Amino acid sequence: MRLVLCAGLVAASLAGFLIEPSGKLPLLLPVMATAIIARLGGWRLVSACVALLWAGLSLLTLSGFVMVADAIMVGGVSALTALLTFRPERPLIGMYGLYQSTEHEVLRSLLAATPIVLLDQEGRIKRASPASHDIFQRADEQLWGIPFSELVPGFDHQEHARAESEAGLVKPAGNNWQIIRPDQPHIDVELWLDHTPDGPLIRLVDLTPRLTADEQARELHSQLNKVWRLNSLGEMAATLAHELNQPLGAAAAYLHAAQEDMKTAGPLGESALRTTELAKAQMLRGGQIIRRMRELLTMEMRTLAKERLSLVVDDVLPILILTGQDRNIRIETDIAMPDLVRLDRIQLQQALVNLVRNAVEASPNGSRVLITGHPVTDRSFEVAVEDSGPGIAPDQVDRVFQPMISTKSGGMGLGLSVTRTIVESHGGNLRVGASRWGGARFSFTLAIANQDEQE
Ligand code: ADP
Repeated sequence: MRLVLCAGLVAASLAGFLIEPSGKLPLLLPVMATAIIARLGGWRLVSACVALLWAGLSLLTLSGFVMVADAIMVGGVSALTALLTFRPERPLIGMYGLYQSTEHEVLRSLLAATPIVLLDQEGRIKRASPASHDIFQRADEQLWGIPFSELVPGFDHQEHARAESEAGLVKPAGNNWQIIRPDQPHIDVELWLDHTPDGPLIRLVDLTPRLTADEQARELHSQLNKVWRLNSLGEMAATLAHELNQPLGAAAAYLHAAQEDMKTAGPLGESALRTTELAKAQMLRGGQIIRRMRELLTMEMRTLAKERLSLVVDDVLPILILTGQDRNIRIETDIAMPDLVRLDRIQLQQALVNLVRNAVEASPNGSRVLITGHPVTDRSFEVAVEDSGPGIAPDQVDRVFQPMISTKSGGMGLGLSVTRTIVESHGGNLRVGASRWGGARFSFTLAIANQDEQE
């Protein structure tokens, strides 16, 4: 803007002289332009403009178009105009004017929107802002004259008066307080106190949204814990079933071979045949029990609903952020819209928690972990978790997905196998590759849900 004005000033002056080299009227143009710049610009800009103007005029003077006196006059008048019209608080001009004209309205609306009460020296409410009516659930006239400690039991402004005087609004020790409301559940508030010349001023902060969010995070956390326990039990059962299948099968085969010999061993053999048959049946049953247990534990994760991925991720974000907080690792998301996909909310959140926790554990302090989401075809949406850790060597890829194999002390080695089971129950595959920062990038796809598709 300033540059345009500056160029305008120079152009106007030159144009003026070219149109009517000998006239004085066009000289007014640069003078007016200088005035405008002086109001909007700083001193340096004004000086630069005047210098430019001078240089231009001197050149023209040399070519014999105008008189030296004209140049001196234009420069002088420009500088004088700049001096008269210059406003040092340039960036504040707009705001300052606005503030001056609407100061009281701005303050009034700010105060109205902030829950504050003013007390008299006895601690009775003498003024209450409209926002505080909502918190107390009482009209203005129902608040006047009421002792504040009646509405907020246990709060005595005098107790905090001496210790925290002159400090502006301060948070007295002993928060949080509860507001007693007529026919309504009590609410938790934080109180800020100031001792103004008009009396004690109290600002109230409704803690309900914060407490509700904490409660929701706690609830989600305990749900995720439960799902984790079930999932890891399922994974262990699957591993056990897989591992035990072979020895159980081999033992059954040996028994079978022994039975063949028993058939030829007469009456004693027949009795042994019956007993070993029972043993073989029990052995097969053992295998079935383990397989059945896994099925039962994984049965829950079959219902895929139509959900917006970004909302599902936002929901679990406070828990993900906590995983990186100690080591100052930021958890960031970048999910393309539209992001309507088919998923089991809690199971998918569990998978993300597992991947993000691994990513955080592998990442250097102060780095970041990125959760991305974007469509890869018109039917599938890719979700990825990227980090800047050491990554996974190609020859280790199969190994890391195996249950109960971990490089961490105290690691159970179940995170990736549980995640893989969850991803597979969503019809996808869990893959690992290199992230854009050279770390690991775990990704999988979810089915895109159509807008008009039924739940
Ligand atoms: P755990 O975390 O208990 O070790 P996992 O199954 O989640 O179990 O992970 C198995 C192994 O895979 C980890 O011990 C680690 O060596 C490796 N791993 C998992 N995620 C990453 C990652 N993002 N970067 C580097 N290595 C990883």
